[in-house]
Amino acid sequence: MELTCLLIKPDGVAEAHIGHIITRIEKEGFTIRGLRLIRLTRSQAEAFYAIHRGRAFFEDLITYMMGGPIVAMALERDDAVEQLRRVIGATDPTEAEEGTLRARFGKDIGVNTVHGSDSVENGIRETLFFFPVSPSQGG
Ligand code: UDP
Ligand code: MG
Repeated sequence: MELTCLLIKPDGVAEAHIGHIITRIEKEGFTIRGLRLIRLTRSQAEAFYAIHRGRAFFEDLITYMMGGPIVAMALERDDAVEQLRRVIGATDPTEAEEGTLRARFGKDIGVNTVHGSDSVENGIRETLFFFPVSPSQGG
């Protein structure tokens, strides 16, 4: 079993897609090990996306992620990282496969509704970011 981190970004929460996204995640065989609604501070958003510091889109990304509450989840299943990336689709919603969450709800390459960890290592790092005790203990 593997852990990955799903975020429903501010647009997904504001536009009332939480229920749809959780239903889809459960249908796809993920077990929710942690779940919380949180509004990120600037320092939290910058820490979460530290790897992108210096990129042209970094400031817009931080402003977007601070713009309203998000839902963070720790998800478990076999091959969780790759399987979640399949469900959310490509970063740019216009390039995301039909049926993916970003194709359905995303606005553009910046405002793309959901985040999913991109490696097993980041799945662990990012779930610990939001659930520092232990996702298996309910976060
Ligand atoms: N992003 C952006 N412009 C870009 C690339 C990324 O605004 O050209 C934003 C977008 O919200 C994306 C996030 O930065 O989801 C993280 O980028 P990454 O390349 O890690 O994409 P992801 O892993 O989210 O698909
Ligand atoms: Mg990424």
